[in-house]
Order: sequence, then C-alpha cells, then structure tokens
Amino acid sequence: MLAVSYPWWMREAACSGMDTGIFYPGRGDTEHLRLARKTCASCAVRRECLEAALVSGEHFGVWGGTTEQERRRIRRRRRRAAALLPQ
Ligand code: SF4
Repeated sequence: MLAVSYPWWMREAACSGMDTGIFYPGRGDTEHLRLARKTCASCAVRRECLEAALVSGEHFGVWGGTTEQERRRIRRRRRRAAALLPQ
C-alpha cells in the first residue's frame, strides 16, 4: 500500500472535507472566492498554508486566504526585500 504523507498543518485545516472547488474559483466567481476567503480567515493554520503555497510556487487556487495574483505580489515583495539585504 502506498502511504501518502501530508504536512502536519493540513490536519488542522478549516477547509478539510469542504468542496475543493470553492478554493479554485473561476475568473469572476466572486461567490466562491468570498466563501474561500471567509473559511481561510477562520483557519488556525492560515499562515502555514500560505507559506507552503509561496514556497512551492502554487499557481492556482486560494491558499491562506490569498489568490494567485496576491501570492505573486508577495513573492515579488520578498524578492525585492532579499535583494536589499547586505551580502
Ligand atoms: S488557510 Fe484556507 S486553504 Fe489553507 S488550510 Fe486553511 S482553510 Fe484551507
């Protein structure tokens, strides 16, 4: 049997058992986006989820309450901040 291992924080996910389609809203699907953000806002592992999505370069869906576009902005800000650090 193949064992699948998930990060510890997924056990605490507020979205556990929910319809994953909510977290992958199509363009202009504000209802699913609103519901996803609302769920993430009350999630105990929001920070871990967002960080995992940023580190893995997750391009699709709502993770840690952020959209793809918002995560791109965060990555860009981090790259700029890292470039300013003394070498
Ligand atoms: S932050 Fe949102 S997407 Fe991430 S685990 Fe929590 S509810 Fe799920």
